[in-house]
Amino acid sequence: MRLFALVALLLAGCKVDTYKPAPKGLRVLTTTGMIADAVTRIVGPRGTVDALMGPGVDPHLYRAKAGDLTRLQQADLIVYNGLHLEGKMADVLEGLPKSVAITRGLDPKTDLRPAPEGFEGAHDPHVWFDVRLWAKSLDTVRDALTKIDPAGEKDYAERTRAYQAELHALDAEVKRRAATIPAGRRVLITAHDAFYYFGRAYGFEVRGLQGVSTESAPGTHDVRDLATLIGTRKVPAIFGESSVPDRNLQAVVDAVQRDHGFTVKFIAGSLYSDALGDRGGPAGTYVGMVTHNIDAIVAALR
Ligand SMILES: [Zn+2]
Repeated sequence: MRLFALVALLLAGCKVDTYKPAPKGLRVLTTTGMIADAVTRIVGPRGTVDALMGPGVDPHLYRAKAGDLTRLQQADLIVYNGLHLEGKMADVLEGLPKSVAITRGLDPKTDLRPAPEGFEGAHDPHVWFDVRLWAKSLDTVRDALTKIDPAGEKDYAERTRAYQAELHALDAEVKRRAATIPAGRRVLITAHDAFYYFGRAYGFEVRGLQGVSTESAPGTHDVRDLATLIGTRKVPAIFGESSVPDRNLQAVVDAVQRDHGFTVKFIAGSLYSDALGDRGGPAGTYVGMVTHNIDAIVAALR
């Protein structure tokens, strides 16, 4: 900092009276890329944001790596998803004094889906698939940043409002696009049960081969049940996910062909579910991810 001040003085031609030291930027660490994108939009120039989990990384299975603990300790604020999305790291994250779950402000009764069988008392963590719900959860980010950096209160409030307005427009656009698919064809079948909130918000019947978490592998009856649904309803296409291996869904495609004589189109790795795409690419932001997904779904099912 002292060196920086010296360099700044030199650059400013030693005009001491006009020199103001740069405020120490907040360092925020997040788990997923979707959260990092949200915090980046709200923190603006007052801080820097880094995500533990990059493109293609499955948060259900992510284990803390060497160096992660240091990064967690050095951060001024840690924002994670919660609701057990980060299954292997949940205890560590919840125990950190500087951490907050972005889903904390959501209403368990009206906003959240109780997690299905085997996870009693828990909730489905994939809230970012309902764009309006994700916009609502930004209030928690705004409040957490304001708490540690009260001087930024006005900035954080303004940027949160602007991003929320952008997301409300995106939500309306996704609704409009979804409505172009005939109601009977709005069946979304994916690698794991991540799209419940998407289905609820945009009018799709949703099924995943694996459960709400990818921690347990699908059984042969799961493959058979899904194949029966696809074969009897003549579902035109099923979707792989960027953060889940495609091989399990390939077994469904084969079973549909073998047991029902029907060819379902399998679009491997086509949806971004639990991770953003490559940084700088079209799905490298939350808005880009949502847009990519609805484009892929409309193209395949309409
Ligand atoms: Zn998931």
